[in-house]
Amino acid sequence: IIEIKHVYKNFYTDDGEISVLKDVNLTLQKGKILAILGPSGSGKSTILNLLTNLIEPTSGEVKIDGKIGYMFQKDHLLEWRTIIDNITLGLEIQHAKTQESMQKIERLLKMYDLWEFRSRFPKELSGGMRQRVALIRTLATNPDILLLDEPFSALDYQTRLLVSDDIYKIIKNEHKEAVLVTHDISEAISLKWKHF
Ligand code: ATP
Ligand code: MG
Repeated sequence: IIEIKHVYKNFYTDDGEISVLKDVNLTLQKGKILAILGPSGSGKSTILNLLTNLIEPTSGEVKIDGKIGYMFQKDHLLEWRTIIDNITLGLEIQHAKTQESMQKIERLLKMYDLWEFRSRFPKELSGGMRQRVALIRTLATNPDILLLDEPFSALDYQTRLLVSDDIYKIIKNEHKEAVLVTHDISEAISLKWKHF
């Protein structure tokens, strides 16, 4: 469960103090997706950073209950690790590399057309493939709360439908919650028809 109450966020820059978030309020329940839309620079990624406690609000309250998986706007893949080693890194850190988690990763790699690439390095992959790897890495640790910063922006239309549908199913069937930052208004509207 996520709750943001009366949050303000200011940053200090060379030009002085700038106000990025003003009285932001949101709540999210299990099995739900919240879409955040807005122009570039409006503070979407800042909201996700607040939810991970990477940054603190200037004032207001941020409450989170559950394990978080954050897919950043940049994929942050480690160039010196193979695809599979990038994906399992979080599991290794959490000592959670089980047979079950590896089966889940295998399913996702096959479904997202990456199975043949699992022993390659990130630089050998296209932008859309890297984005899919970053998504699998986020899902691999089985988080309760998914923070997704433009997760489908580098995917072609067909792959986007396949991958987004899969993620929506995971959120609904496994009672997860997600905050989805997107520039795509039709994608946000479609969530309504999918009963989120
Ligand atoms: P985009 O759609 O381009 O990703 P966004 O809505 O995610 O944009 P943010 O990254 O949240 O935008 O940034 C919002 C504003 O806050 C911008 O003006 C940015 O320059 C500023 N900002 C973000 N992080 C910092 C920081 N650490 N220090 C100073 N200013 C920052
Ligand atoms: Mg952003």
